[in-house]
Amino acid sequence: MEDKCSFCGRPRSQVDLLIAGLDGFICDMCAEQAYEIVKEEMKAPSHPMELRPGDIRKPIEIKTFLDQYVIGQDEAKKHLAVAVYNHYKRLMQKQEEDDVEIEKSNIIMVGRTGTGKTLLARTIAKMLHVPFTIVDATVLTEAGYVGEDIESILTRLLQAADYDVAAAEKGIVFIDEIDKIARKGDNPSITRDVSGEGVQQGLLKLLEGSIVNVPPQGGRKHPEQKLIPVNTKNILFICGGAFDGIEKKIAQRMNTQVVGFTASKETARLDRDNMLQYIAPQDLKSFGLIPEIIGRLPILTYLEPLDRQALRNILTEPKNAIIRQYVKLFDLDHIKLTFDEEVFEYIVDKAIEFKLGARGLRSICEAIMTDLMFEMPSQPLEEINITKEYAESKLSKLSAQKLRA
Ligand code: ADP
Repeated sequence: MEDKCSFCGRPRSQVDLLIAGLDGFICDMCAEQAYEIVKEEMKAPSHPMELRPGDIRKPIEIKTFLDQYVIGQDEAKKHLAVAVYNHYKRLMQKQEEDDVEIEKSNIIMVGRTGTGKTLLARTIAKMLHVPFTIVDATVLTEAGYVGEDIESILTRLLQAADYDVAAAEKGIVFIDEIDKIARKGDNPSITRDVSGEGVQQGLLKLLEGSIVNVPPQGGRKHPEQKLIPVNTKNILFICGGAFDGIEKKIAQRMNTQVVGFTASKETARLDRDNMLQYIAPQDLKSFGLIPEIIGRLPILTYLEPLDRQALRNILTEPKNAIIRQYVKLFDLDHIKLTFDEEVFEYIVDKAIEFKLGARGLRSICEAIMTDLMFEMPSQPLEEINITKEYAESKLSKLSAQKLRA
């Protein structure tokens, strides 16, 4: 009997080539077709945002990834890693098979400005390859008032996802300066509080997971506009805020808690320089967040103030550290850029002196490097070493005011 292709059934005499396998044959035409199918499938792996069990990184892996970009902040990293891990496990949970519904683990991070809140959220999103957007809570107001509608948050996310609604529905939103929408006191206000409580009420809807009609171009909603329904159930919200003065509220709470004969012992053990580590949900309430919002942000964590050593490490340690970026920029012009160790200490001193924190490091570096970056491409040397004297000469002309600008 004549050999036949096991796929299309054509006999050997009707094909150009018949390749033998263990139990059958494949002809040249079927092999080609099979190759095309393989190519197609590899190009579009089902849905780009579809999660498979192997895709979810374990909390320790997430933290290791964060460590490459963010210095210190171990507590916040741990909380974030667990929250994100659980969030994506929850996304994979098949509702019909399970009667335990895992709740969404939205996160709130409290810490001074420039300590890495945004950087943490951004890094997490980078690792997960999900759409990510940052919104500033200060621009949000209640519908009908000057400012942006709450829904504009989702417009940004849609834009980040190139209007792929399914992708946006699994994205991450970082809401910065959440403390700025706190109401002015612990008590519900009698007068209208346009940018405070009303906004919190609006935000609640997004945080708890509902279908929200989003204006695709942002701005104000108007009647003729086509709205895109977005389900926020699986969107992870990470909020950040400095909560200036919350240390006092924490201290008050802790002091009243520990009255009694153990009081002196307990309070003595408090680390007064870093009260944020004792933060609890009720402190957010005393600050003016409504209990419903606090309830929708079940993961509460804090960021440490950055000390000298942390600032020093931020300069050179992270994968995309500022100094590494300059070295790379010069390297692209075939110039070897080096810094004396003292220069780093000097930059850190200045950042502390000007009270600029980590945010100041970049502006100080820019002040030192700008002239060189301007001149070097036209008169290339092979090597440049930055000394402390050089750094001082560039910085002496600048005031802290200018650096801040
Ligand atoms: P926040 O959101 O807390 O105000 P950011 O995350 O925007 O602060 O930090 C501002 C900049 O300072 C970042 O872009 C980063 O360069 C640097 N930075 C702040 N904290 C850290 C940190 N812990 N590790 C590395 N870089 C940091």
